[in-house]
This record gives sequence, C-alpha cells and structure tokens, in this order.
Amino acid sequence: MEDFLARGSSGVAAIALHPKAAAHQQAAAEAAIAAGIDVLYDPRTERLAYPGHGLDRLPGYVGAPFDINQLALNLSHRQRLVEAVVTAHPDFSTVLTPPHFYVDGMRAGRLNLALAEATILATDKPVRPVLMLKSRFSHDDAGTLAAEYSDAGFTQIDLRFTPLGGEGDGIPKIRSAFKVADIFRTAGMRVILGRSGNIGQAAFALGHVDGYSMGIGQMEHVSHAADIARQKRPPVLDQDGKRKGGIWQGVYLPGLAATVSMKRARQLLENSDVRTRLGCRIEGCANSLLGPVIDHKSHYLHSRASDATRLLQTPPHWRPKLETDRLRRALELRELVNESYRAPESPAMPTRTLRSLLDGIEEERATSVA
Ligand SMILES: [Zn+2]
Repeated sequence: MEDFLARGSSGVAAIALHPKAAAHQQAAAEAAIAAGIDVLYDPRTERLAYPGHGLDRLPGYVGAPFDINQLALNLSHRQRLVEAVVTAHPDFSTVLTPPHFYVDGMRAGRLNLALAEATILATDKPVRPVLMLKSRFSHDDAGTLAAEYSDAGFTQIDLRFTPLGGEGDGIPKIRSAFKVADIFRTAGMRVILGRSGNIGQAAFALGHVDGYSMGIGQMEHVSHAADIARQKRPPVLDQDGKRKGGIWQGVYLPGLAATVSMKRARQLLENSDVRTRLGCRIEGCANSLLGPVIDHKSHYLHSRASDATRLLQTPPHWRPKLETDRLRRALELRELVNESYRAPESPAMPTRTLRSLLDGIEEERATSVA
C-alpha cells in the first residue's frame, strides 16, 4: 500500500486500516496522508453483537455479546462503547468511524444514529458512519433514516448491504440497494458503497454512489450472516498453533471482472489462449507473464484503481456505456472459460450477478431515454 500510494493515488479517495492491526499500519497511513487521501479505521463492532472467537481485540469488547435492544436503552453503555472505539482509532486516522451494528429495522437504525452522534461529540475529526442494512431494507424506513442522519449533520455515509455482492445476486436486490443509495444521496450525503466489487463499480458508473470500497483481494461483498457463522467456529490450528489454511489470496483478473483463488488465476494465466484477455499491463505486470499472481497485492491495487480512474476520466453520461462494455466482455470471457478452458476439478465461473448488472443497466438506460 505504501509503495502503491507513493507512485500515485489516482482513483483512490481513502484507505481503511485493519480493525485489529491498525497500530502496525502507520507507514501506509502516512503515505496516504502525504498523497492527500483519507485514512479510515473500521472497528467492525457489528461482530460484537454475537458470541464467537477472535473478538477480544475488537474495540469495545466487554466479554459478552451486546444486546442491541439493551444498548438502545442504555446511554452509559453506549458512551463506553463510543469511547472505546474513538480511542481505538490511531492518531493518524483522518476520519472517524462510529461503532455500528447490523440494521434490520428502525430500532437498530436509530441505535446506529445515536452511536454516530455520540461519536461526533467525542472528536474534532470528520465522522463517516457505517450503515450495514439488510439487502431488502424498507425504502420508507431508509427515507426516514436518511433524513435523520442528514438532520444530525452527517455529510457522508458508508452503506453496506447484506447479503450483496456475491455472484448470485438478482436484479431486484441490486435495484433495491441502488434505490436506498439514491435516497441517502438525495438527503444530501456523499454515499460510499462499502465492501463492494463489481456492484460498487456499476453503482458508481451509473451515478448511484460517490465511491465504493473493497479490501485487497477480498471484501468485495458483504455477508453478515457468513461473517457471524465464521466467528462462531473455533479456529482450526496447526501443530505450531497457527491458523490452518492460511490467508485467502484473491487475485483480481480484470478481463473476467473476478477475484479468483491463486491456483485458479495461475491456471488461467498459464493458458496462452486466454492469457492476453485476462491480463494486466500496468507497472510490474507489464514485464511479467504471471504478474497478477506474482505480486497479487500490488496488482490488485493498480488494477482496481485504474478501473476507477478510467470511470473518473469519462464524462458521467458515458460511464454506463463504459461499464456495460466491461461487464459484457467479462461475461463473454467467463462463458468462454467455462466452455473451453476449465479444468475438470474447477467449478464453472458464475455469471448471474454480471447478467443482473447488465440487464439492470440496460433497463435504467432505456428508462432515462424514454
Ligand atoms: Zn497488474
């Protein structure tokens, strides 16, 4: 991240520090500040409403799960949580993220707002709340919440929809998320679609959001239920006490609009029939046939940032066309890979979300022309 930002930060507006490792990410934060972009920190407190493993290093952890209904009634418990989260932000963060919890209705929505307002009072820095909404959140309730956030003085928000952003999303779910984003923008807020890959990029291209965020080779979708199920399973350790299975190394293949496993990426990039259509010619990748798998993190940063830059450099009314072309090429290439270049043990590349996005964009463009 440090090296990437030192070379330029085009297409990138902010970085987010790790909930548990932020203190060790100072060099990256300083590179971001030097590049003039924001440094956020995500406390991931939504995980604290459920029992599980690995929670004790999250800010605000009190040894037992938070009861959302109790927290909604108890000002002093909320204050303690806000203080813990504000304190957990490293000094070098430039924007604060309040504690936040999963929102399935107005009570949880207003609890999040109360925590966000308390955070404003505890800091001089700008505050950007996270609102993790169930994917079919009521549009009427979204309107009420958006107005209340706006009245409380918030000018930016990180919306996350769960579950959303996997490969099996249908048009109605995507359309509903875009509608909620529109509602918050209409209320005067700068909206970021958090933890979102292709759907975030499409939402940005269509003008539903002001930005989108992701991890490095990961966090391109939100599944709150899967996150919570994972934390409830005890970690499987090897004989040295290290977590078994290692860390997921996601390799972004721009031509497929997909982040795949290291093994899958290598197999595809080694195939001379499809290699050139998958590949990347930016920075280190220009000089290496297997660039995306050799330095998958640098590749992820430069390829994702260049996708965003390309959109930013295109006048807004041409962006949907640019995005449609990208998704259509990716869909065709996924189909080609499935038909002709798939190892027997590899699963087929999914296509539903790409199709939904393409059909959804087509529909929107038809409506806006009509
Ligand atoms: Zn690359």
